[in-house]
Amino acid sequence: MGDMAEGFETILYGKPADHVVRICLNRPEKANAQNTLLLHELNSAFDRAARDNAVKVVILAGAGRHFSAGHDLRESPEEADPSRFEPVGTWCGFGSDGQEGPFQREKEIYQGFSERWRNFSKPTIAEVHGLCVAGGLMLVWPCDIIVCSEDARFMDNAVDMGIPGVEFFAHPWELGPRKAKEFLFTADMWDAREAHRLGMVNHVVKREDLEGFTLDLARRIARKPLFALKAAKEAVNNAQDAAGRTTVMNAQFALHHLCHSHNMQKYGMSIDPNSDGARLMAGKAKSG
Ligand code: ZN
Repeated sequence: MGDMAEGFETILYGKPADHVVRICLNRPEKANAQNTLLLHELNSAFDRAARDNAVKVVILAGAGRHFSAGHDLRESPEEADPSRFEPVGTWCGFGSDGQEGPFQREKEIYQGFSERWRNFSKPTIAEVHGLCVAGGLMLVWPCDIIVCSEDARFMDNAVDMGIPGVEFFAHPWELGPRKAKEFLFTADMWDAREAHRLGMVNHVVKREDLEGFTLDLARRIARKPLFALKAAKEAVNNAQDAAGRTTVMNAQFALHHLCHSHNMQKYGMSIDPNSDGARLMAGKAKSG
């Protein structure tokens, strides 16, 4: 069976091989920018794969030219309101005033969802091509294995927008502390080769081989016993958590919201208005 909508609007949910589910972001006209609906549908798709005991491995891919351009900064306030959906976490209160509402919204749909997918019990493989920018990293970093094609490019431009990195602060583990700082400070776009050299991606393959290579890898993993796969995943995740990963991430999330709040006090908006991200948010054409 190929990729099917299966009741979703913004993603496809397919079963390309026995015991393998392939979830595909499907807003190609928006470079798979993540609106609130897409994030909720992605979360529901992971839940569906978790509850289906025949599923052993989940592939996460993107339709169109790019994996994901990040969070959809052009969403209307109504579309961006998570109150439209059944809450997944327990912070709630998304419409509260001051910094309370935005903190709780991002705690739910950004940091909360990425952390939840990082703790998804079964093996996950990100299949990345084209741009994987800012919020795009928050979909691939929670995955266990990352395969990308030669055209893949990675960037976190949050510092340019006046905040210390995206809401899921995996940078030091993905890149090492020194390169994580360079990645954040410069907001430069890094290519597949550099990401591979740093150990951030497992494999780089030709664009035309990406889907097949990833599916072969998923098939090989899916031959193993599911309970052992879940146990192995949790064992490695425990190593990061025992070293303080969760505490570090929560501390960065607080700094992230300190900066959102600072920008709001200084500029009247949550990000620095002099950034490309702010120009996009204002609906103006992105300058060169
Ligand atoms: Zn934020």
